[in-house]
Amino acid sequence: MSQVRNRNNTEKKVVSDEERLTDQQKKELADLKKVHPANEFGGIIGTFLLTFILPVVVYWIWASLEFNEGYLLRPAELSVEGIKAFFVNLYNIVMEHAYPTKQATIIYFSWFFFQAFLQHFVPGRKVLGSPLPGGKRLEYTLNGWASWWITMIAVPAAAYFGLFKATILYDNYGSMLTVVNIWSFVFTFLLKIQAKIQDDEERMSGHFFYDFWMGFARNPRIGSFDLKLFCEARPGLILWVLMNFSIAAKQYETYGFVSISTLLVCAFHAWYIADYYYHEEAILTTMDIITEKFGYMLVYGDLAWVPFTYCFQCYYLYKHLVAGAPIQITIAYALGVVALKCFGFYLFRWVNSQKHEFRRNPDHLIWGKKPDFILTKRGTKLLCSGFWGICRHLNYTGDIILSWAWCLPCLFDSPAPYFYGIYFTTLDLHRCWRDHNACLEKYGDDWRNYCKRVPYVFIPRIF
Ligand code: NDP
Repeated sequence: MSQVRNRNNTEKKVVSDEERLTDQQKKELADLKKVHPANEFGGIIGTFLLTFILPVVVYWIWASLEFNEGYLLRPAELSVEGIKAFFVNLYNIVMEHAYPTKQATIIYFSWFFFQAFLQHFVPGRKVLGSPLPGGKRLEYTLNGWASWWITMIAVPAAAYFGLFKATILYDNYGSMLTVVNIWSFVFTFLLKIQAKIQDDEERMSGHFFYDFWMGFARNPRIGSFDLKLFCEARPGLILWVLMNFSIAAKQYETYGFVSISTLLVCAFHAWYIADYYYHEEAILTTMDIITEKFGYMLVYGDLAWVPFTYCFQCYYLYKHLVAGAPIQITIAYALGVVALKCFGFYLFRWVNSQKHEFRRNPDHLIWGKKPDFILTKRGTKLLCSGFWGICRHLNYTGDIILSWAWCLPCLFDSPAPYFYGIYFTTLDLHRCWRDHNACLEKYGDDWRNYCKRVPYVFIPRIF
C-alpha cells in the first residue's frame, strides 16, 4: 500500500524535461530544428570552394618549402598555359612525394588511436560544460595536462630507444598529409551518418556542401567520448609540436646543430600548447565548443590544418638556407622577439582566464573590484570589467601578436613562413565578426547594450 502511495507521490513530482524548460529554452530548441540560411563563409559556393581549395593551398606551400627553399612556387607566366603547367607540376609533386603510403597510414592511425586511448583512459577531473540551448550541460573529463606529459615523455623516449627515428614525422610529412586529408573527408561523412541516425542535426540549411562544411551535430559523442573535444584538443595540437621537434631533429641530423630561430619557434609553440592544457577547462567556454557544429571545417582544421601548417616556420627554417646554412639571428633580435611573444602571451592568457574565472565565479574580484556585468535574458552574464571592459576581444589581439612573434625568427626572405601570421589575423578578424553575429542572435538587445558600453573590439580608441 505504502509502495503504491509512494509511487503516486513520485509520479506527481515527475515532470517531463520538456515541461521543465522555460519559454526561452523551448524557443532555443525549436530554433535549432528550423531551416537556417546558408550565409556564412561565402554561402554555398564559398564553402564548396573552401572544402577543396584549402588542401591545395597546404600542398602548394609545403611543395614550396620542400622543393623551392621556401620561396613560393608560382606559374612561370600569367597565362592559361602557365597556370595549367603550375597545377600539373604541383599534381606531379603530390603524386610522387605525398602518396599515401602504408607506413604513413600506420604512423598516423597509431598516433590518432594512442591519443584517443589517453583521452578515454587517463583519469581526470570531471567538469560540466557551458549550458547548451535548452539548458543542458554536458560532462567532460579533463585529462589533457596528464595526457600531454605522457605523450611528451613517451614519444621522445621511444625515439631515444630506437623504436623509430626522431625525424619520422618530417620524413613522412607529404604522405601523412594525404592520409589525413582523406581521413578528414571520411570522418566528416561518418559524423553526418551518426547525426542523422541519432536525429542530432541542428541549424541545417539543406544544402549539402554548406552543411558538410558547417557540420551537423554540435556535440557528437560515442558513449562518454566527446568527438569534438578530442579532435579540437588532442591529435592535431600535440602532433603540431611533435612535427616541429621532428623537423628540428632533421636540422640537427643535416647540419649538426639546431639554430636559435628553430629553438625559439619550437619553444614558443610547445609553451603555447602546454599552457593550453594547463588551462584546459577554458576550452569549454570557447566558441568552437559552445557554438560550432562539428563538420568538415573543424575536422579538417583540427586534424590537418593545425599540425601540418602551423609547423611551416620550422619547416622553412630547415629548408631555407642563407649562404648554405640555416638562418642565423642575433641575440638582440632574439630577445626582441621573445619580448613581443611575452607581451602577446600575457594578453592572450589573462584575457581568456578573466572571462573564464568570471563565468565560474561572478563574485571573484577583477583588478581589486567587484566585476560589473550585464545580466542577459538568457541568464548568462556579460562581463564589462577588466579587459572585457576595455575591448570586446583583447584575447584575439593577444593571439594575433603571438602569431606574428612566431614568424619573426624566420626573417624576411620569403612570405611563406608568414603564412601563419597572415592566416591567423584573417581568421581572428572573421571569427570576431562571426562571434558578434552569433552573440547578436543569442543575446539581442543585451549584446547591443554591451557593444555600446564597450565600443572597441581589438585596440582601445582605434578599432
Ligand atoms: P572567446 O573566448 O572570446 O569566446 C566568445 C564567446 O564568449 C561569446 O560567444 C560569448 O559566448 C562569450 N562572451 C563574449 N563576450 C563576453 C563577455 N564580455 N563576458 C562573458 N562572456 C562573453 O573566443 P573564442 O572561443 O573564439 O577563442 C578563445 C581563444 O582561443 C582566443 O584567444 C582565440 O584567439 C583562441 N583560438 C586560437 C586558435 C588557434 O588556432 N591558435 C583557434 C581558435 C581560437 P557565451 O556568452 O555563450 O558564453
